[in-house]
Amino acid sequence: MKRLYEGYRKFQAEVFPARRSHYHLLAEGQSPEWLFITCSDSRIVPDLILGTEPGDLFITRNAGNVIPVSGNDVDGCTATIEYAVEVLKVPYAILCGHSDCGAMKAAVERKGLDKLPKASR
Ligand SMILES: [Zn+2]
Repeated sequence: MKRLYEGYRKFQAEVFPARRSHYHLLAEGQSPEWLFITCSDSRIVPDLILGTEPGDLFITRNAGNVIPVSGNDVDGCTATIEYAVEVLKVPYAILCGHSDCGAMKAAVERKGLDKLPKASR
């Protein structure tokens, strides 16, 4: 927890002041160019991989970057896509998979799903 606190303090002391004008623009609204759908895997850091900045990507993440079938129960992923398309008018969508995805391996191999009924579905 200490590491996170120190990171936040650094953001407040160094990152935010250096980008103050950009953050003030973002406080007025957003118009991201890309909807980015990816896995929750901790090794994926979209802005680091793509060289993007705050405000560039509208992101939804879940284990295995799964997009539920339309018409299923309300969920965050489809609500995010709906908001991106209907409200923000985001012109492009990127579905980003990755190597060694535990969720995809479990889904394909049908192993280790006993304790994961939601993921299993
Ligand atoms: Zn994954």
